[in-house]
Amino acid sequence: MKCPVCAVNMVTKKFGDVEIDVCEDSCKGLWFDAFELIQLDEAHEGFGKALEEALNSERVRNDERGKINCPKCSINMQNHKYKSLDVIIDECYSCGGKFLDAGELKEIRDHFNKDRFGAMKKVKGMFAKR
Ligand SMILES: [Zn+2]
Ligand SMILES: [Zn+2]
Repeated sequence: MKCPVCAVNMVTKKFGDVEIDVCEDSCKGLWFDAFELIQLDEAHEGFGKALEEALNSERVRNDERGKINCPKCSINMQNHKYKSLDVIIDECYSCGGKFLDAGELKEIRDHFNKDRFGAMKKVKGMFAKR
């Protein structure tokens, strides 16, 4: 499958139990099939090197690149906030696939961490400084 932004081939990687398509050679964007993002949107979900790399990718601002087409259905993808978070993702209303620019997965997971695991934040901070 080709990256909807760069049109280079994406690489399938295991983020724990879920396989995600990564635009490894170019923008580091991530493609989630329907119901895959929901399995990785909380800070404790998923594991492995590929996930860590994705979380360490530099945040890309997608404000200027305009609309992209779904790599599966070839129709326009829609921009909207993920859940009630301040992170704009691209979603295909046909197949339910979602494209996340580099760094967006981390933002989503950080938000969930804050909202729902507030008490654990301090622990996580200590962990990060290790
Ligand atoms: Zn790309
Ligand atoms: Zn689609």
